[in-house]
Amino acid sequence: MADDPFENMLAQMDRAEEYADVDHGIFERLKHPERTLKVTLPVELDSGEVEVFEGYRCQFDSARGPFKGGVRFHPSVTQREVEALAGWMTWKTALVDLPYGGAKGGVICEPKDLTKNDLESLTRRYTEGIRRMIGPETDVPAPDMNTNPQTMAWMMDTYSMYEGHSVPQVVTGKPLEIGGTPGRVAATGRGVSIVTERLFEYLDRDLSGASVAVQGFGNVGSNAARLLDESGARVVAASDVSGAAYDPDGLDVAALGAHVDAGGLMEEYVAGEPRATLEDRRTSGGNQYDDPDQITNEELLTLDVDVLIPAAVEGVITAENVRDLRASAIVEAANGPTTVAADEVLTERDIQVVPDILANAGGVIVSYLEWVQNAQEFSWPLETVNAELERRIGKAFDQTIEQYDQKDLPDLRTAAYTLALERTASAHEYRGLFP
Ligand code: GLU
Repeated sequence: MADDPFENMLAQMDRAEEYADVDHGIFERLKHPERTLKVTLPVELDSGEVEVFEGYRCQFDSARGPFKGGVRFHPSVTQREVEALAGWMTWKTALVDLPYGGAKGGVICEPKDLTKNDLESLTRRYTEGIRRMIGPETDVPAPDMNTNPQTMAWMMDTYSMYEGHSVPQVVTGKPLEIGGTPGRVAATGRGVSIVTERLFEYLDRDLSGASVAVQGFGNVGSNAARLLDESGARVVAASDVSGAAYDPDGLDVAALGAHVDAGGLMEEYVAGEPRATLEDRRTSGGNQYDDPDQITNEELLTLDVDVLIPAAVEGVITAENVRDLRASAIVEAANGPTTVAADEVLTERDIQVVPDILANAGGVIVSYLEWVQNAQEFSWPLETVNAELERRIGKAFDQTIEQYDQKDLPDLRTAAYTLALERTASAHEYRGLFP
């Protein structure tokens, strides 16, 4: 079960059902995506070869508004994963009260093996494949893993070519020049940093000097690390696929960010030799070492830190490793990083978890602000966008805490799910069954 993100999402729903005021018939309905389109994508690569890729777009639920959710390019994409991610988008948009449903797209590919031209051809062919189901009022894609503003520009252009005029509102996360909003690229990481601050306030603890470990240093992890570092937290570890850099005194987050932005790997960043082992670090307190050490991703997860931020893929905190975790709180920047079996142990161990559908909602919140600006044909300054992001994610955080405290729920995920399920179910009840 731990390996199947869709089963994991259903199990999260089941955990919340007993506390949620939701009709059982509607609850059962909410366990099934509305539709999933599978597309075959033959693409002529720069090498001259034709490669046939496979892609998906899942539209999970639209009771609260147009479908919304990103598109990921990754070798481990599956239909079930895309459907789970579309479900999580549904609960996320409901929890942060955006007038959207949930969707997700994915293409099975290894972007590192593709040239920029290959990626453009693949993106355009995928967009053609799903173009009949997307649109500003129906389904609005956005970036996710390994996709970015350039990908959105190609999607917007392809869709617009068929329409015969520019339709910026069909995707969010676009470059500024073609209708993007300031603040979108950093938005998910900014949201992670805001909820971490709120969590510390709630727990009556000081974020200043608190130690943070970040698993995954892509767009989300790196921006969260940068903003938490600016807020006075100490980012002691950060990782990518090649491994993790660790320094108990705190990493130079700006230098690390510049290294990764330039295409560098974490293992290359870890300078000097010989390296102290993790055990040496623990026993020495680590203070005599200036350079970061290389540790594994698994070691990063079990560091004794104030906050662990999984910001990579699904299913990294599992029944196998959850008892080794020593973090006092977890803020889920990734979608679905914790399996339900692990969740039960975290609840039992009283480790506070800010669930993904709240912690990483900053991205879709600012996507919504971009979509609204496109509809208004008017653009807002960065300060307005960031203030609105903070207001909206802060409100969702407060409502989740209120639900958790007032209803005496087992954990924050259950609190977030009960709110999201009740809101979505209520939309279904008002709209009724067609025909
Ligand atoms: N891919 C992001 C997420 O998982 C953003 C989706 C969006 O902006 O529509 O929340």
